[in-house]
Amino acid sequence: TQTSEETADHIFVSKLPSISIPNHLPLHTYCFQNLSQFADRQCLISGNDGKSYSFADTHLICRKVAAGLTKLGIKKGDVIMVLLQNCAEFVFSFIGASMIGAVTTTANPFCTSKEIFKQFNASRSKLIVTQSQYVDKLRDTGDDSVVFGEDFSVVTIDAPPEGCLDFSVLCEADEADAPDVEIDPDDAVALPFSSGTTGLPKGVILTHKSLITSIAQQVDGENPNLYLKPDDVVLCVLPLFHIYSLNSVLLCSLRAGAGVLLMQKFEIGSLLELIQKHRVSVAAVVPPLVLALAKNPLVDSFDLSSIRLVLSGAAPLGKELEAALLSRLPQAVFGQGYGMTEAGPVLSMSPLFAKQPLPTKSGSCGNVVRNAELKVIDPETGSSLRRNQPGEICIRGPQIMKGYLNDPEATARTIDVDGWLHTGDIGFVDDDDDVFIVDRVKELIKFKGFQVPPAEMEALLISHSQITDAAVVPQKDEAAGEVPVAFVVPAKGCELTEEAVKEFISKQVVFYKRLHKVYFVHAIPKSPSGKILRKDLRAKLAAPSSTS
Ligand code: AMP
Repeated sequence: TQTSEETADHIFVSKLPSISIPNHLPLHTYCFQNLSQFADRQCLISGNDGKSYSFADTHLICRKVAAGLTKLGIKKGDVIMVLLQNCAEFVFSFIGASMIGAVTTTANPFCTSKEIFKQFNASRSKLIVTQSQYVDKLRDTGDDSVVFGEDFSVVTIDAPPEGCLDFSVLCEADEADAPDVEIDPDDAVALPFSSGTTGLPKGVILTHKSLITSIAQQVDGENPNLYLKPDDVVLCVLPLFHIYSLNSVLLCSLRAGAGVLLMQKFEIGSLLELIQKHRVSVAAVVPPLVLALAKNPLVDSFDLSSIRLVLSGAAPLGKELEAALLSRLPQAVFGQGYGMTEAGPVLSMSPLFAKQPLPTKSGSCGNVVRNAELKVIDPETGSSLRRNQPGEICIRGPQIMKGYLNDPEATARTIDVDGWLHTGDIGFVDDDDDVFIVDRVKELIKFKGFQVPPAEMEALLISHSQITDAAVVPQKDEAAGEVPVAFVVPAKGCELTEEAVKEFISKQVVFYKRLHKVYFVHAIPKSPSGKILRKDLRAKLAAPSSTS
């Protein structure tokens, strides 16, 4: 195989030629640029009730929502929060906001009131689109640290509880009332939250330019068979509040003219039924879903022959699992994508040419995307490394985030002066330009692809009156990939139990941040500068007898 040229700085680029990317446009204009070619095709299909919207319908409703948001006082630069499971209204709200230059912060509706409040407060959201069942989470709780106040509107997509507005206020507005807004390519459009390489969750500013670049890197250009085609039906079961699903599933499909099957949540029986019924051709998944597709006996009772492509991302996937999946879906091509919210998010993906599937190297995350540069550096010295040498992966290109919201220090720690985004992932590039991820130097724990930020968990633990110090690290787990476990130093003379600590945490956090184990210790190992020596704790876990 031909490999890309390696410069003196060992910078890797795609083997495919660079493309011209219209990233001067606003995101919604770019996504619907080819609307006339597929106006009548199915764009959104709601797995729940079978309702479907053509591309023309979808575009029109988005414009109505843009007018409706304006009526409710939302202006260019304002932030709205979308607190929804996957549904058509998610799409209408996100694109509608983009049309008036507003920014959407996407939040997980399963989060606790406290977690949602932190994001609401940090993003200064002026309006929340949600479901009536989550409205109670948006009320003041009497807890001084959770004060939503009254200064925002709540719109529900189902019967609105008192004080809330019905979604019809948005989607039945007159599209002619949507203002003409001038949008700069560097204006923010999406604000997902991520803890990045260290610390608490932060708002990740993704601009019109970054998202367009990322989408184009995946589905535009010379090779129209790259990843998605107009007659594809793409499975959207991964939550849209995470950038993987928002970008690589929804926005890429809008651009490519592919239909999106929206599923609210993962349940294997209904997933299989919907794949069969709607002839899903592309399945964007995460490793636990690959596990279910590869191992669940129910799979044999359904016709999954329509699936031509399975793309896994968000967390590492073992070779054995990939092989098990392919033995179940022999007609499918399997590939991995490697992403990080801050990177826009895709850094590399398998070459998934529909016409001529290339055998993907098992365990590889494919090649660096087009119009971007990737390098691998020695985490100690910062110097760039040659092929086959593992080090920290860095990426540069117009797709990466503009920075963290109101946090120039965290931004400067992540994007260096030369524009390289440091991922905190350890990997290498092999002789064929394939990227492999082998470890993580950052704190982040990933439970089934969901982020568990240790710093957030540690702050909660230390707020307990009977805990003097704590550290949270990942433990390997077959089903979840990793689970969070805590090392806790109890206050002198306190009789803390593991159950009490677990319960204290589980009351305050979303399900995937719950602690799976608590070890009581006399001290947390720290460096002379006070940094938790996480590597030592991870090593302790690998030798379980030493933790007792
Ligand atoms: P997030 O910002 O939530 O998408 O998390 C990004 C992190 O998930 C990356 O920095 C990696 O640590 C991990 N990750 C994403 N995709 C992969 C993959 N294909 N293989 C291994 N780790 C991955």
